[in-house]
Amino acid sequence: MTGDRSESVVVLGAGIAGLCVALALAPTGRRITLLERDAPPPADDAEAVFDGWRRRGASQLRHSHAFLAKMRQVIAAEHPALLQALGAAGARDLRFADGLPETIKARYRPDPADAEMTIIVSRRTTMEMVIRRYVEASPNVAIRSEVFVQALVSERDVGGVLTARGFRVEGGETVLADLVIDAGGRRSPAEDWLADAGAVVPETGEDCKILYYTRFYAFEPGQSDPPRSRYAATGDLGYLKFAVFPADNSTFSVTMAAPEVEEALRAAVVDPQVFDAICVRLPGLAAWTDPVRARPVSKVYGMGDLKSRWREMAPNGRPVILNYFSVGDSLVRTNPLYGRGCSFAAVEAHLLRDVLTETVDPTDRARIYSERVRATLRPFYEDMLTQDRGAARRAEHGLDPNYRPTLRARLMRRFVEDGVSVAVREHPELFRAAMRAFHMLEPPRAWLGTPSAMIKVFIALARGRKANVRFYAPKAGPGRLEMFAALGLPAGADLERLRPVSLARAQPGVAFPGRGEFG
Ligand SMILES: Cc1cc2nc3c(=O)[nH]c(=O)nc-3n(C[C@H](O)[C@H](O)[C@H](O)COP(=O)(O)OP(=O)(O)OC[C@H]3O[C@@H](n4cnc5c(N)ncnc54)[C@H](O)[C@@H]3O)c2cc1C
Repeated sequence: MTGDRSESVVVLGAGIAGLCVALALAPTGRRITLLERDAPPPADDAEAVFDGWRRRGASQLRHSHAFLAKMRQVIAAEHPALLQALGAAGARDLRFADGLPETIKARYRPDPADAEMTIIVSRRTTMEMVIRRYVEASPNVAIRSEVFVQALVSERDVGGVLTARGFRVEGGETVLADLVIDAGGRRSPAEDWLADAGAVVPETGEDCKILYYTRFYAFEPGQSDPPRSRYAATGDLGYLKFAVFPADNSTFSVTMAAPEVEEALRAAVVDPQVFDAICVRLPGLAAWTDPVRARPVSKVYGMGDLKSRWREMAPNGRPVILNYFSVGDSLVRTNPLYGRGCSFAAVEAHLLRDVLTETVDPTDRARIYSERVRATLRPFYEDMLTQDRGAARRAEHGLDPNYRPTLRARLMRRFVEDGVSVAVREHPELFRAAMRAFHMLEPPRAWLGTPSAMIKVFIALARGRKANVRFYAPKAGPGRLEMFAALGLPAGADLERLRPVSLARAQPGVAFPGRGEFG
């Protein structure tokens, strides 16, 4: 171990990434200070925190969050006591076997490795509160709340190399440290500060082209999750994606994601009556939101400005700044539909810990961290972009009554719907392989490329729809026209205005319906 235990670390932000940095680095003995603009949780009680914690710096706080297997795996391996604390606070484990489609339940044989695919389900408020209390218990971690960071302190040497020294906070105090971490989230101001210091950080990104709507519910006394039925609690209707997120302490949330092009729907969903009316019409949701089972405990929270974005802090192996590391959304932003942002942050923080331990050379640290993040996470990021582009095009084409898919698009759709989806709902081992990729435990597409997977897919295709009938998922809900009529929404769209973005042809995603995009 070469990492210097006496190093001091200052972190901008005590959101998920800042907390993960503290989790990862606290056991190394470094002195860590997190600077957070928002107030601390108002209590140690999950309900009080959900009801009362003001988090202007993390506006997604009251949206559904699933904490995927990758994040749980990191916590279980590195911080088992935290896992226990989460359980004690009411967070639950959702096991792989709990999410099996009806079509494979009978043929499923447990495999010890399936335990790796366990998700933590909890409201994000509860998750943050527990991790925060856990890291605060480390004598070498301090979280300074209600401290607004205003500037990066850096210097450029005569050779032109830029090195981070710390942050300046509101009131003029300067907090200097050996290592400076940006965990300021999706709107981290550090981006501008780096530009002001002359550091050019290349970035690429795309709009997710969806809007997010979430409402929380509490089970009525004596009630709990409804029994699993043929209707999955997640689904994709083209004009709307939806999912139930079970959570801690007898709560759950429902999230709906409307494509950006569905303007009338977007404006309407935020109305609780419309939200309810949609729930009633989707059997996978209705079983949960039935007033006998549960009552809403929040308004419908809406959220836009959802983007994917990738930043390169050491393009071509040349760090733009030394002793400075971005972790979490300030480095990579992902579409929330995949439920991967917190797992990305946890993985990055622990990769950083390893790199800091392996070498003390600032240039090597920056370069290696960047390379490892790219090698570990980029394949998932690119797979997500491919799927998002397909979903956005399908949503646009859904608005155009004259749209006719090309032969290639029709063949692709057949391959996915009648081949991949059927095979996955028929063979437990294929479902397992797909879910391991979804949880970032294996590379994103490798599972479909194996000869045995392709044989299963082609057998399903060759058998034809009639013979496969029992393996199709039931229709998740009404078609667009029927739903819009029921909601009293205009179904027409200004196609001319949408035309510039809808020229590309639809490519069905290689994902299968309901593969758990929402986590
Ligand atoms: C709608 C939505 C749903 C999501 N669902 C999921 C999900 O199901 N699963 C999942 O894994 N991920 C999900 N994500 C992604 C997840 O929320 C983020 O990836 C995660 O929060 C990233 O952590 P972070 O610390 O980088 O950012 P944040 O958690 O946003 O934290 C940034 C922190 O920096 C602080 N800060 C910013 N500027 C300053 C300043 N100048 N001074 C002091 N403090 C500052 C903020 O107050 C905040 O506390 C979702 C995201 C959205 C938008």
